[in-house]
Amino acid sequence: MTPRELEEAREELHRRKAALLEAAGRAAAELDALRASDRGQEVEEEAQAEQGATDLERLGQAERQEVQRIDAALERLAAGAYGTCVDCGAAIGVKRLKALPWAVRCTDCAAALEAAPARR
Ligand SMILES: [Zn+2]
Repeated sequence: MTPRELEEAREELHRRKAALLEAAGRAAAELDALRASDRGQEVEEEAQAEQGATDLERLGQAERQEVQRIDAALERLAAGAYGTCVDCGAAIGVKRLKALPWAVRCTDCAAALEAAPARR
């Protein structure tokens, strides 16, 4: 990948992560408001206890997994390993990375992995 493509990937990853965290924060705020109107007083104490929760902890499991994938991709970017297939070492296509910026495998290896029967 060119430096410019890498930079674009970095921006895209940050953008997606920010969107996920923002959605989580919004959902939490709505939940707080809902609880407050529902039960009044006692909720305030609960809300205070919950303030320690990070945005990440507020996310659902699927979203949390996506944030983790994005973080891993950002680490790979920083380490210079971004865009290289973890299985075969080939370059992952730019087109694939645009659609799936956290992809760690090339199309062939990803397909082979999916086709392989679950190892037990
Ligand atoms: Zn591969």
